[in-house]
Amino acid sequence: MPSPRRTFAIISHPDAGKTTLTEKLLYVGGAIHLAGEVKARGANRRARSDWMKIEQQRGISVTSSVMTFEKDGVFFNLLDTPGHEDFSEDTYRTLTAVDSAVMVIDAARGIEAQTRKLFEVCRLRNVPIITFVNKVDREGRPVFELLDEIADVLALDVCPMSWPVGMGGTFEGILDLATNRISRPDGDSRTFQGRTEDAPQLPADVAEEIELAQAGYASFDAEAYRAGDLTPVYFGSALKDFGPAELIAALAEFAPPPRPQPAEPAPVQPDEKDVTGFVFKVQANMDPQHRDRIAFMRLCSGTFKRGMKLTPTGHGKPIAVHSPILFFAQDREIADEAFPGDIIGIPNHGTLRVGDTLSEKPGVRITGLPNFAPEILRRVALKDPTKTKQLRKALDDLSEEGVIQVFYPEIGSNWIIGVVGQLQLDVLLSRLEAEYKVGANLEASPFDTARWISASDPAALKEFMDLNRSALAKDRDGNPVFLAKSAWEVGYIADRYSKVTFAATRER
Ligand code: GDP
Repeated sequence: MPSPRRTFAIISHPDAGKTTLTEKLLYVGGAIHLAGEVKARGANRRARSDWMKIEQQRGISVTSSVMTFEKDGVFFNLLDTPGHEDFSEDTYRTLTAVDSAVMVIDAARGIEAQTRKLFEVCRLRNVPIITFVNKVDREGRPVFELLDEIADVLALDVCPMSWPVGMGGTFEGILDLATNRISRPDGDSRTFQGRTEDAPQLPADVAEEIELAQAGYASFDAEAYRAGDLTPVYFGSALKDFGPAELIAALAEFAPPPRPQPAEPAPVQPDEKDVTGFVFKVQANMDPQHRDRIAFMRLCSGTFKRGMKLTPTGHGKPIAVHSPILFFAQDREIADEAFPGDIIGIPNHGTLRVGDTLSEKPGVRITGLPNFAPEILRRVALKDPTKTKQLRKALDDLSEEGVIQVFYPEIGSNWIIGVVGQLQLDVLLSRLEAEYKVGANLEASPFDTARWISASDPAALKEFMDLNRSALAKDRDGNPVFLAKSAWEVGYIADRYSKVTFAATRER
C-alpha cells in the first residue's frame, strides 16, 4: 500500500501571502531549510541552477510547478498556480489536477477578485477548500465580518477552526477551537516559537465572540467539506509561523485522497489496476534552442513504473516513459514508481499536449480540462512576411503549451491569438523572438471574444456558418469558433440562432 497522498493547490489574490505560506508549509514539511541552511551537492546544484536560469529567462515559475514533501507518513503534492495578477488557462488547468485547495485571504482585505475567480473554478469541480485568513499579526477586519463575507460571497457554510485573540498590536495568539489550546507569540519578532497553553484566560470580548461564533456557525462536518459545501476556516500569520502546521495537519486529516477522475467511457477510479493519467501542463524546458518539453502528468490510477509504455489517447502510438521526473521541493529525481495523486514530469519533443490522457488501457479519455474563451484577442502581424511557416509552427507549439489560443479565420490570412490575461501577450512576443526567431507585432483585432460553436442539428450549424463566414475561425484542433465583436453580440447572435450552442469553454 502506498502512503496516503494529498494533492492540492493554494489559491489567492496576489499579495495575500501565498509565497510566504508555501515556504512555511515546505519548511514545516521538512522539505526546505532556513535560508542559508541549504547545501546542494555537485550535480544537484548544477541541475537546480539550470532550472533557476530558465525561471529567470522566462520569468515564469518552472522550479515550483510541483512541490512534493512528506510529513508523518503522508505525501503532499503542492501544485503551484502562477502568482501573477494576470492568470492564464494554465492556472485553471492546474486546478483540474488537484483534489483540494487552500484559499489564502488577507485579513485586512477579505475576498478579492482573483480569489473569487479561482474559487469559481474549484466550485465547478467541487474541489473542497480549506480557508486560511492570513496576516492577523496586522490590523485586520473584524473576524465576524470576514467569516460572513466568505459565507456570502462564496455561498459556502463556514466553520471557524481557530480564532485570533486580537489582531495587529493587540495580537496575543491563535486559539485552536477544538482543543482550547492557544499558540502564543514570542520575542521581538512576535513569532510562534512553540509556546502553547491549555484553556487560556481570554479577554472578555474575545471569549464572548467565540461563544457567539460557536453557536452561530456550522460545526465541522468532514462530509460537507469534502463535498465542497463547507469550508473550515483557520486564522494565522504565515510570516510569523502561526497556521502552517495546523494547515498541514488539517490537509492530512480532512482533505480527500485522490478522487475518481471524470472520464470517458467511465470515471477512472484511483484503485484501478491500469495506469491512467492526464497532462495538465506542458513546459518548454531548459535550452531554448531545443524543443524539449516537460509534460506534467497527474496520475489518476494504477502504479506507475519507470519505463512503462503508455498510450496518449487520440494519437495512437504508445510511448515508453524512461525518465519520469519527480519534483521534490529542491530536487528533481527520476521516479521509479509513482502512485495516484502524484505528478510526474515526462520529457518529450512536443508529442504530448495539454489535455492528453495517457493510459495502459486503450480508449480512456479524461474529461473536464477546459479551454476558456479568451478575454483578449489580437491579430498577429509578421515583421518579415517570409516567416509564415515559422510563425505557424510557433503558434501551434505555444497553443499546445497553453500559453495562448490560436484561431485561424476562414477568411483572410491574419491569424488571431487569444489570451485570458495581458501577461500572456508579453510571454508570447518574447518567446517568438527568443525561440523561433520570429519578429511579430500584435495588432488590434476586430473581434473581442470567441465562442466554440456546436449544434445537435447539423443543418442548423451549417446555416449559421454559411451566414456568418466572416466571423468564423478554426481553433488549432479544427473546431469551429465564432469570433464576436463583444459579449453583447454573442448574446444577440445566440438569441437569433437558438439551435446553436455558443460555449465559453471547450473541453478537451
Ligand atoms: P503572494 O503574492 O500571495 O505570493 O504574497 P507574498 O507571500 O509574496 O506576500 C506578500 C507580502 O505580504 C510580502 O511582503 C510578505 O512578507 C507579506 N506577508 C505575507 N504573509 C504575511 C503575514 O502573515 N503577516 C504580515 N504582516 N505580512 C505578511
